[in-house]
Order: sequence, then structure tokens, then C-alpha cells
Amino acid sequence: MENKIKALIIEDEVKLARFVELELRHEGYDVVVANDGRSGLECFESEKPDIILLDLMLPGLSGIEVCRRIRKDSDVPIIMTTAKGEVMDKVLGLDNGADDYITKPFAIEEVLARMRVALKHRKTAEGENPTRLSVKDLTLDLGKRTVKLGDNNIDLTKREFDLLAYLIKNKNIVISREQILNKVWGYDYFGETNVVDVYIRYLRTKIDDKYGEKFIHTIRGVGYYVKDDED
Ligand code: CA
Repeated sequence: MENKIKALIIEDEVKLARFVELELRHEGYDVVVANDGRSGLECFESEKPDIILLDLMLPGLSGIEVCRRIRKDSDVPIIMTTAKGEVMDKVLGLDNGADDYITKPFAIEEVLARMRVALKHRKTAEGENPTRLSVKDLTLDLGKRTVKLGDNNIDLTKREFDLLAYLIKNKNIVISREQILNKVWGYDYFGETNVVDVYIRYLRTKIDDKYGEKFIHTIRGVGYYVKDDED
């Protein structure tokens, strides 16, 4: 079969990894397994998986770090698996770009169901015209770099546009200031982190005020997100 979905399992518990691997194969997935974070990253680069099951607690490079690095240049669905009691880390995982998380011990049916959901979400996102992003009445044309609120054009600077596009691409996910800095300002940026807050304020002035309702939400001490009611 040509169109098998390729899953990458990054899990240091070898038996568990093997179990999940066999179950996924049984369901028709192509499967690659890595038993630590570093080889997981290598597998990600070489195998180009369609979806990743990523253990949070890994020797050496943690699941969070692996997730963060993958997210730098890929939108591949990532489902984090966390042991009970690592609930705080769940927030961190989602904050670092994971799509979902599952608490161990898990039923394999649940893993399969979550994987289907994550893959379906991704497909829907890709199926839409990828040069366009929209939330509520706001539409961004990534090619022309224009923004419309209903029928009205909104003028944004390059940085404002990039920031808004990044937030909307990750709608419903809380993004930290650090992530925003890395993605929108770039890794070589060494200025003040509050530049993010300043630009969020610019966007709010240009969008929220016109829209008449809160568009960009703040989670104090964590970051920002754009909420899409239809999700
Ligand atoms: Ca582990």
C-alpha cells in the first residue's frame, strides 16, 4: 500500500514502545520507533512521519525539548504521552506546540482515537486554501499579505502581520512570549521580551477595538492565544 500513514513513536520504555508499535501496525500504520529524544529527532528528520507519539519523560533530551525543536520547522501532529502526576507538564507540552496529550497508562483505543482526531484536524487545516488564514470575520491572505475584517481592510506592519499570522496558525493554543519571539522576531533577536506585549497591544488597537470584542486573549504568566469558537 502506498498511502500508509507513518507514525513515529518516541518512547524510552521499550516494551511499551513495542506494544504501541504492533498495535499501530495492526491498524495499518507504518511505524518508526526511537527510544530516546535525540534519535527521535533524527528519525523525525530522516523519516518525515505524518504523526508523532512523544513521551514526555525521556533520558537526555526531554519530550518538551524534542517537541519544541520539531515545532521550529514542522506542523506535524504531536501527541504527548505523560505519566500520571506529570499534569503540570501537560500545560508545558501544549505550550511547546503539542497537539494533544494522553496520560499513561492508556488504553490503545484511546491513542488510536486521538491520533485520528489529530490527523483529521491537520488534514482540514491543509485542505483549506493554505495561502489564507481565518478566524471569525478576520481573514489573512498570506500571499498578498493583506488582512480583512469582514469587508474592511486592516493595515498592519510586516511584524504585526507575522505575529497575527503566527497566532492564528496556532489558534486555540496558548503561545508563550518566547515562542513568539523565536518565530516572529527570530533566534538572533536579543532585545526586550516585552516587545511582544507592545506588538500585541498594537494588534489589539487595530483589531479588537474595531471588532468590538476580545480577539487576542492573554493567559497571565503564560502567553497569548487567538480563540476560534468553531473549533
Ligand atoms: Ca519515559
